[in-house]
Amino acid sequence: MSLPEKKTETRGTKKQKIRYVRKHEDLYEVLQKIKLWPSRTGVLHGIKSITRKGAYIEFVTHCGNKLQIKNSKTSRVSRWLRNKWHVRACPRCKVPAWKLEKFSSTSFH
Ligand SMILES: [Zn+2]
Repeated sequence: MSLPEKKTETRGTKKQKIRYVRKHEDLYEVLQKIKLWPSRTGVLHGIKSITRKGAYIEFVTHCGNKLQIKNSKTSRVSRWLRNKWHVRACPRCKVPAWKLEKFSSTSFH
């Protein structure tokens, strides 16, 4: 008979996993992975659904914005995502903290 294992608190000791995203990956692929979109004003929105429309990407944010952007690796959005530039998260999108944490630990290489 084995002794019952002592329950240990594991919360807070979880290892932070680093997510790797290829630097020159398609913007569409990056957005699909990250599900976050930084607006021109620096607000980070959560992406609800995303579709590829030829050379464009069409997506809907959780706060109800429907946008169409060019699928370009050299666009502002690509650059901002790689550099993780944003001022704040959109309160209406209710981006969960874990998602923001995951985003900040994403490595573009
Ligand atoms: Zn939003």
